[in-house]
Amino acid sequence: MRKFNPAEIVLMRKAGEMTGNALKYVETLIKPGISTLELDKSVKKFIIDSGGTPSFLGYEGFPGSICASPNDVVVHGIPSADVILKEGDIISIDLGVLYKGYNGDAARTFPVGEISPEKQRLIDVTRESFFEGIKNLKVGHRLGEMSHAIQAYVEKNGYSVVRELVGHGIGKDMHEPPNVPNYGKVTDGPMIIENTCLAIEPMVNMGRKEIWLIEDGWGIITRDGLPSAHYENTVLITKDGVEILTL
Ligand code: MG
Repeated sequence: MRKFNPAEIVLMRKAGEMTGNALKYVETLIKPGISTLELDKSVKKFIIDSGGTPSFLGYEGFPGSICASPNDVVVHGIPSADVILKEGDIISIDLGVLYKGYNGDAARTFPVGEISPEKQRLIDVTRESFFEGIKNLKVGHRLGEMSHAIQAYVEKNGYSVVRELVGHGIGKDMHEPPNVPNYGKVTDGPMIIENTCLAIEPMVNMGRKEIWLIEDGWGIITRDGLPSAHYENTVLITKDGVEILTL
């Protein structure tokens, strides 16, 4: 965990704002019949036109500017002309913006047209688990207090938390220490210090927590085939509290 100086915080806020704006933009495009490759192309243009760089593109060889993960795909879905959104699907979009050397990273799960109440509840609980988590994110407290709160909220609602993938520190690199798990004990993890940034990202499965890596080497799916949702924001922690940078 690294302290940011005031000039860096200004740039983190800007990168975060651009990331949040790109997610609001992609939400306007989601409808039955559109492919995830079309979403990717449009978001890439939007981010570049806004003065940023799509940080996922080329990251460890990733071919898209967004991760587009429908239904039972947990995260890291590669955008494809063959993946066409259908009425009743859910689609998780994760994206990052690099601005003047600083990173924003955020994700949302969106409904495609009308979805079942069960899928809507999964989306809602996943988002709520993030907010339950950050209530417990405080300077001088263990990171595990937040991780534990996310897990407790998700499991109380009958869902499960993915273990293999976690949130992360963020700043000049998209992924910096520490790991930010969405599960664990209140005594786990480092002590929170002020003026640090984290990407907090619960990944919540409707059924069991187990996952598979698919053959493209990127996509992660649920083993039981049930849907999964994702909600992520980049946050700044100061002595005054938690500021969400990517809303
Ligand atoms: Mg992330």
